[in-house]
Amino acid sequence: MMNRREWFLGSASLAAGAPAAFANQSSTKKPVVISSANGLAACAKAMEMLRSGADTLDAVIAGVNIVELDPNDTSVGYGGLPNEEGVVELDASVMHGPSRRCGSVAAIQGIKTPSKIAKLVMEHTSHVMLVGEGALKFAEAYGYKREDLITEKARTAWLVWKESLKTEQAFNNWRSMDENLAADAAPMNRLKRAFPEINEETLAWAWQMATHPPYGTINCLAVNEKGEMSGVTTTSGLAWKIAGRVGDSPIIGAGLYVDQDVGGAGSTGVGEENIRVAGGHTIVEAMRRGMPPRDAVLEALKRVSRNYNDNKTRLDKLDIEFYALRKDGEHAAGSLWGSHRSYKVYSVNDGGESRHEPCVFLYGS
Ligand code: ASP
Repeated sequence: MMNRREWFLGSASLAAGAPAAFANQSSTKKPVVISSANGLAACAKAMEMLRSGADTLDAVIAGVNIVELDPNDTSVGYGGLPNEEGVVELDASVMHGPSRRCGSVAAIQGIKTPSKIAKLVMEHTSHVMLVGEGALKFAEAYGYKREDLITEKARTAWLVWKESLKTEQAFNNWRSMDENLAADAAPMNRLKRAFPEINEETLAWAWQMATHPPYGTINCLAVNEKGEMSGVTTTSGLAWKIAGRVGDSPIIGAGLYVDQDVGGAGSTGVGEENIRVAGGHTIVEAMRRGMPPRDAVLEALKRVSRNYNDNKTRLDKLDIEFYALRKDGEHAAGSLWGSHRSYKVYSVNDGGESRHEPCVFLYGS
């Protein structure tokens, strides 16, 4: 029979390490990659690399590099919408399960693939996070060239945002998120006068971006057939942000968290709300206690909701999504709103074609 001390040590090691449900699981049969909705190609690339025996972190980074380098994705890397000064500033983080190490960069300018710089921080320094000018100099030391990351499309949206500041419908970050009330349809006559050379369709899109800055980001999580896990989150952050603003994506425990014993989690959407609930860590800890990924993402969403006193009128404006991949390959994603919001799906690849699966949600029908 266990004496009191043995019993205590047994429970303590369970509490600190592998959860009861996974204590005996050392492997998963099939590799799985999941990501935010914009990551179908990223998941396919990561899966291809896992199958050829690549490390899980190299696989997810190669996956998100596709999105970072895509000028048409205006929320990640090259082509991302800029800060209020018209400069693209990027945030990214990586976590490598087997070595239990992580790295991140925040508010880095001039580098199209910040996820690669985050990995360099992890591999070559005693630090976890580098920001701003220091992060750029570090990247340059490794041979990366500073490039102009703004595309014509993103610059048009930024100029239209500047124009929107002259109206009552303006979105600006010098007030609380709550105060940034919904704006109406574009005042097309005004915009056409201000930008005669730009077509109406582009102006309508730019107005939408100006007054309802989109959240984007890609979070990608993978487990290979040996049960090894890694994750990455990379973004251009909130459009029109104050220069130097850092979101949740590069914050280990918020935009990303991986524990090799349990699983990984990440987030997209309003980073400030995720930082307040440390979503990535919250989800992994919930899974450690035995919650399935679906319940774990709902748990994080409930904490976001609680910070608004569960007031649905205020929460109505918030876009936030969480993603969870357990070590045994079970996964889920959740968003605050189910019925009338765009981020209702996430990307999954478990060996075949990448596909979208529905998110669970806290509110809506
Ligand atoms: N979470 C990111 C941030 O707040 C933005 C996003 O997901 O688009 O920087």
